[in-house]
Amino acid sequence: MSSKLFLKPALAILNVVTNSKSALFNPDRNFVLNKLLRWTVYDHFCAGTNREEVSKTVAEIKKIGYQGVILGYSKEIVLDPNEKLAHDDTGSTTYSNKCYEMVEEWKKGTLETLSMVGPGDFLAVKLTGAGPIAVDSMADRNPIPESVANAVDEICQAAKDQGSRLWLDAEQQVLQHGLDDWAIEIMRRHNRSNAPLVYNTIQGYLKGSKANADRHITLAAQEGWSLGIKLVRGAYIEHETRSLIHDTKEETDRSYDQIANMMLCRTMPDDAKDLKFPNAALFLATHNAASAAKAIATHQARLLSHQPTVLLECGQIQGMADELSCELVQNYERALSDSSAANVSVPKAFKCMAWGSVAECMQYLHRRAIENKGAVERTQHMVTALRQELRRRVFG
Ligand SMILES: Cc1cc2nc3c(=O)[nH]c(=O)nc-3n(C[C@H](O)[C@H](O)[C@H](O)COP(=O)(O)OP(=O)(O)OC[C@H]3O[C@@H](n4cnc5c(N)ncnc54)[C@H](O)[C@@H]3O)c2cc1C
Repeated sequence: MSSKLFLKPALAILNVVTNSKSALFNPDRNFVLNKLLRWTVYDHFCAGTNREEVSKTVAEIKKIGYQGVILGYSKEIVLDPNEKLAHDDTGSTTYSNKCYEMVEEWKKGTLETLSMVGPGDFLAVKLTGAGPIAVDSMADRNPIPESVANAVDEICQAAKDQGSRLWLDAEQQVLQHGLDDWAIEIMRRHNRSNAPLVYNTIQGYLKGSKANADRHITLAAQEGWSLGIKLVRGAYIEHETRSLIHDTKEETDRSYDQIANMMLCRTMPDDAKDLKFPNAALFLATHNAASAAKAIATHQARLLSHQPTVLLECGQIQGMADELSCELVQNYERALSDSSAANVSVPKAFKCMAWGSVAECMQYLHRRAIENKGAVERTQHMVTALRQELRRRVFG
């Protein structure tokens, strides 16, 4: 990553390994490739290939001082298009049994992932993982199919029983409108106490993100459920219809900060000013230190002046923005050791991680590698600081 010379070919190789169907390029079947990938990217970005490895990583993360983790299962179940449809007795086309088995398999994998996190932690849920029954219905903006709804209910109940929470990952716009409708329906059903169990993701880079946040807030206020929002900037800029996304990075930054501010200040949208802001919680999922600092300052200021706000928590992806994560951990620990009670309200810091075999994590790893192309330049100030600290410890 630090060598411009190696970066381009390394990304090209990762691309081939990620998309190849050949056994030679399958890291779960090729021992040497497996070791190479684990050594270079997998161990940096992923939690582990099985329960034992994941538990060890989660324990290490918590030992550093993080107050929690978010865990997602990377396996993307791929179905042969020829196996998707079947014909029933009347001759009409239905989904094949294989499609229903995929929903079950997805539920089992998600429940297994849930069992690897603890109370207060989050489960990251990818609804598209349930296969064509979920994806087709989401794309057509239809209600949640019964088989998927039953699986989701079971997952939500298990998370609640365990004292954990869950969030729904955001997708590209072709799916996201349907996904938002489903997320609202799931929150309506399961967010019945003051603190939300289920969070939906809002992508600040979309021109429509403020209106989407307004819609979530208004519905929660009208119908009396609690609202969980995980706020991201958005990861699909290279694949999304560009006109849907803010024209500049600065506009995305402003949009992100505006939505965070609206939640933290409990501001009702203009056309719903007569309603009371609902019970709500905000999860800031960002690597942007300026956005995190702004939101935390607003949160603190409101708490110190006894103005109402919402629960605020922050998180970064494993292997990324550790300088920001560690600063958040340090602030939290400082606040805990401070005797002034008002200071104890700093947000908890989380690390978000994925687990699965090396082959199952390849799509995830490829996305991380692309996202980190500019990381070396972005974190140059950290390298300088680390070198200075090393010198101080050796010679100081
Ligand atoms: C814990 C966690 C969970 C996440 N979950 C999801 C998820 O479910 N779905 C999802 O889509 N993403 C998700 N992301 C990724 C996220 O959307 C961002 O891609 C990533 O975090 C980088 O954005 P940033 O806020 O860290 O800040 P920065 O690094 O400051 O911003 C980079 C982002 O700015 C935006 N941007 C860049 N250039 C432009 C431009 N020219 N015009 C307009 N906008 C621009 C893009 O969104 C880009 O990703 C998650 C991130 C984290 C930390």
